[in-house]
Amino acid sequence: KTDGRNRCVVFEGWMREHAEQQLGMERDLRDALGVEDQLEMHYQPVVSSEDGRLLGTEALIRWRHPELGLLSADQFVPTAEAVGMVRLMDNWVLDAVLRQLREWEVAGLDARRVAVNLSVAQCSDQTYPARVAAAIERSGLRHREWLSFEILENVLIDDSPAQQQVLSQLRGAGHRLILDDWGRGYARLHYLSRASVDALKIDKSFVQRLPDDPRSLAAVRTVLQLGRELGIDVIAEGVENLAQRQCLRDNGCPALQGYLIARPMRARELTAWLQPARA
Ligand code: C2E
Ligand code: CA
Ligand code: CA
Ligand code: CA
Repeated sequence: KTDGRNRCVVFEGWMREHAEQQLGMERDLRDALGVEDQLEMHYQPVVSSEDGRLLGTEALIRWRHPELGLLSADQFVPTAEAVGMVRLMDNWVLDAVLRQLREWEVAGLDARRVAVNLSVAQCSDQTYPARVAAAIERSGLRHREWLSFEILENVLIDDSPAQQQVLSQLRGAGHRLILDDWGRGYARLHYLSRASVDALKIDKSFVQRLPDDPRSLAAVRTVLQLGRELGIDVIAEGVENLAQRQCLRDNGCPALQGYLIARPMRARELTAWLQPARA
């Protein structure tokens, strides 16, 4: 833990320096994306609360920084957004995930569903669905339905026609859409009822206050009820202990994700979780 904290301090100092000259940050990240090959995807399992079976994974970007070690997305994605690098990064992510999916496919493994986080900018970029289709084509992946997307709930609120079109085209192409960070601040039921998503992900801030905080419990129950009524899946993220898992099970939450089940891991380690694909 001390190591983690020191690394954070070093990182913050480094970020401050670079904030003063965004070009520096941009160059570092551009190098990391390109020649330096320092970025990698990790995959975190989502499992059934009933029997622990793997339902899918979430793809999370990591930066293996030469001086700072392994940085999690929280430590650099916001900066990538601030310096306008997020589109480049998202393209890199898409190709990296598709390459990995194809590798599993070729190995005869069933990757289930791998969810990629979509930045807000991509959601209203009308060229995005075509770029996804082209990237799938390039990768040679046959199971295109393995690729799903997580979008933030504030994206739904600003639902411009352009964005609705992007999301419905992605769904139309067979990709599952998951509404991430549900309840984080903007959640409004009427957006959801007319939105078209396949699953809701309960924000970890609620999950982490289970089972004792009555407001969080009420929020979680409301989402589960809503999921049942709309006929869509619900995933709880940030499950860290047995009491939280028990509470989620008792309330009928079908899918779980969090450190208790597994940390985000490299593709190689995830392979051990995957079953042979059915013909
Ligand atoms: P998110 O989509 O809400 O991702 C969940 C975050 O919670 C991840 O942090 C994950 O490592 C962490 N997490 C998982 N289980 C637990 C747990 O049990 N307890 C706790 N405390 N945390 C847990 P990470 O990887 O740092 O990602 C942070 C955010 O960065 C993500 O939030 C997502 O919004 C964004 N992000 C991550 N990867 C990508 C990417 O490839 N592209 C884009 N555009 N954004 C990404
Ligand atoms: Ca997510
Ligand atoms: Ca989330
Ligand atoms: Ca988040």
